[in-house]
Amino acid sequence: MAANETQKQILLTPGPLTTLPSVKETMLRDWGSRDQAFIELTARIREKLLAIADATESHSCVLVQGSGTFAVEATLTTLLSREDHHALLLINGAYGRRIQRICEIAGIEFDTYETPENSPPDANHVAELLRTDPKTTHVVLVHCETTSGILNPLEEIATVAANAGKKLIVDAMSSFGALPVNLSEIDAEAIIASANKCLEGVPGLGFALIENTALQKSKGNASTLSLDLHDQWEYMERTGQWRFTPPTHVVAAFERAINEHEKEGGVAGRGRRYSENCSRLLSGLKALGFETFLSDNLQAPIIVTVRMPASDIFNFDKLYALMNDQGIVLYPGAVTEEKSFRVGCIGQVDVKDIDRMLNVLESALDTMGVAPENLAP
Ligand SMILES: *Cc1c(COP(=O)(O)O)cnc(C)c1O
Repeated sequence: MAANETQKQILLTPGPLTTLPSVKETMLRDWGSRDQAFIELTARIREKLLAIADATESHSCVLVQGSGTFAVEATLTTLLSREDHHALLLINGAYGRRIQRICEIAGIEFDTYETPENSPPDANHVAELLRTDPKTTHVVLVHCETTSGILNPLEEIATVAANAGKKLIVDAMSSFGALPVNLSEIDAEAIIASANKCLEGVPGLGFALIENTALQKSKGNASTLSLDLHDQWEYMERTGQWRFTPPTHVVAAFERAINEHEKEGGVAGRGRRYSENCSRLLSGLKALGFETFLSDNLQAPIIVTVRMPASDIFNFDKLYALMNDQGIVLYPGAVTEEKSFRVGCIGQVDVKDIDRMLNVLESALDTMGVAPENLAP
């Protein structure tokens, strides 16, 4: 076994993320999916997820097998009927564009309001669009657009949508659990997230917190069987079971991860650690000579986009390999406006890990013969 296989692997990515040993150990037990113990486990998770968003009375939690995108597609195609609904999609990155693609394929009617990848949608403009286009029934927002790491203004958009009498659906995949999403304070028909981001579970399931009244009205909207969240919800309410094979080990690990989240102080505690990681990362990168894509006031404490140095002496593939050898995994860029790479600050990592990453980064730059002046974009 190579030395680095025994070392802690640090995933500085948008997910899957570094998880706790206790979360991974929970997966050593096999569960019968129709067993009473697993039914109770499923029920507890649904309750805990609602509690995190203060939505116990107003919303129901619907779990769905698959990656986060499955949950997004399931929620949109369950809540938006092709006949009765029209969505306004707020887009400033790849996840917003993915939502557009989902709507196109499903035949859901929509308009888009697209802003550059480094600027959030303007709530006043959204208000204006809603005023002049009465056919819109739903606004769809990505809370933290993981493409760049930008924080979009959830509260402002929620207020504008509510004032216009429109429903709001939020892809909170990369923020839920670390940034406040409080459904007793903001009006949202649905909030979508997954196990393997800020809640630090392992990948394999997503979930949506959906207003009870909306779920009740959504029967028959779905265009697929397996992503029909009305059916999944109705079956789970009636039997306590999942309709089709659940990712049993992932579900068990998820409960453990949620308990660890609670122990850390819930959303506030987790958000604090990620913010500390992010500030350390930003100051360390800048001290080395890197520039970041976003201005600091738009940066969510989730993932940082670094502008690619223009000099040929800097080679990202080489840097990736050198850091990977030391157990540190970086992530390629995704913004379309310029070349970049990304460094995450979420998962089971703390400022000591960030410091280690910065040290490894500094020696990798040294190995490559890169001087601070070679780091200008
Ligand atoms: C990660 C993520 C998703 C889901 O991606 P999957 O690869 O399907 O898990 C959706 N939206 C956002 C904003 C994300 O960060």
